[in-house]
Amino acid sequence: MSGMPLTNPPVITDLIIWEDDPASGVFTTAPKPDVTQPPLKFLFPGAVPSVSNDIYSAAFRYWTAAEAAKRGVKFWAPTVPASQHWQRGPVLEVHLDRWEDLQADYDRRALNFYHGPSVCGKVYSCASPDVVCHELGHAILDAINSHLWDAKLKETSSFHETFGDMSAILCALQLPSFRQAILVETHGNLCCDSRLSRIGQQFGVAVHARYPNSADANCLRNASSFFSYCNPSTLPHSAPTTVLSSDEHSFSRIFTGALFEALGDMLTLSAANPSMPTPNELLAVSLDMRDILAGSVKKARTTAGYFAEIAKAIALESADKNPDYKAIFLNAFVGHSILSMQTAAVIQSSPEMLQDEMRAIADQRPADETEMMILPAERYGLAEDLQVEVPIPPPGFVSRSAGTDGRAIEPASLPDATEAFVDELFLTGEVAYNGFGAKGVRSFGKRRNKTHELVRGDRGLRLQRRLFR
Ligand SMILES: [Zn+2]
Repeated sequence: MSGMPLTNPPVITDLIIWEDDPASGVFTTAPKPDVTQPPLKFLFPGAVPSVSNDIYSAAFRYWTAAEAAKRGVKFWAPTVPASQHWQRGPVLEVHLDRWEDLQADYDRRALNFYHGPSVCGKVYSCASPDVVCHELGHAILDAINSHLWDAKLKETSSFHETFGDMSAILCALQLPSFRQAILVETHGNLCCDSRLSRIGQQFGVAVHARYPNSADANCLRNASSFFSYCNPSTLPHSAPTTVLSSDEHSFSRIFTGALFEALGDMLTLSAANPSMPTPNELLAVSLDMRDILAGSVKKARTTAGYFAEIAKAIALESADKNPDYKAIFLNAFVGHSILSMQTAAVIQSSPEMLQDEMRAIADQRPADETEMMILPAERYGLAEDLQVEVPIPPPGFVSRSAGTDGRAIEPASLPDATEAFVDELFLTGEVAYNGFGAKGVRSFGKRRNKTHELVRGDRGLRLQRRLFR
């Protein structure tokens, strides 16, 4: 024994984690999280592993995912209603490696992650903070507005995907080192192609190799892409990523691109030196975007033309943060044809009347009305007709998207849009029949986890959502 005094062993309070994605190869440090503590508690089943700096270990993936999830809930928690609960209760499970599949999903009980093949071996969806925070975004939006979960409409489902991608982008910006790095990489021009705009790089490369239409070659999706609005029922259900398809992840890129552009313009507007924004200015606009998105989803009508409705709500909500933000959002939404020029002019000139309408929608929200529509059994090979709920939106000013000439186009009726959505679910093999197929008809498609399933309801056979990917 030496005469040296005994000291306590060092306590590890910081982790080494991927800054945004394993493909970027950039590490940063962050406080070791306790995911079991409020706000918005998680349960990671199984033993808590020791901290490891072996990037190929399950322990490294555990702590990277735990840090991303905790950072995400700290960011979003102020926007979730006072009960501070997830949609299903006080705790959300996180399963880091369910089985082999190139996906990740949120099913109201849990965030689920999987592993699959890639050119360099196995890829784990939980290894990417981007992917973790995308799935978290679905859970947050579901906690804020649960009506969007099972609205059988292309534009509400696609907005869920946009919210997930914006969650990945905004949660990444909560890391100080990442804010600094992105400002350097983009020279302050935030909406260009960068590590910020490329969501889920490593995982996207693996998905692209197996399903080229489902991801870009270098990421899952790139928020810097530019797509203009068109009626989703006119699109094919699958297409190369250079063009739009009606798949929600593809179609969501219209809205994500507009929001990403607006985020860049908000930074330019807010920066003391617009050609050299600071990390603190970038942090401030990320918080503003969070509040604008969370506030508007409580106030938008659930309609077939949801993109135009939520765009209207966002533009109006943004003016509460900064009166100059409204022009930024209107410019982005008109530029992407999400809003017609005529609708943008009404939003610009009549905010009081529209604000009153939105407040009324938010106040009556828990009582959103629906009616039942019957779809014929034989179309889908069912043993009985299918009952599908169709929302009845409250009256008021109807926001319109535009054609390529900027003029307003009429959205599909709610029954037509619902029927088209349901038809596509069956067509793409996204419905689990659960034994309700006539003469043994079964669901098809390679996916083990389908987004929807058939269930026996009080009034007959119903179709309900299982998960968002
Ligand atoms: Zn998603």
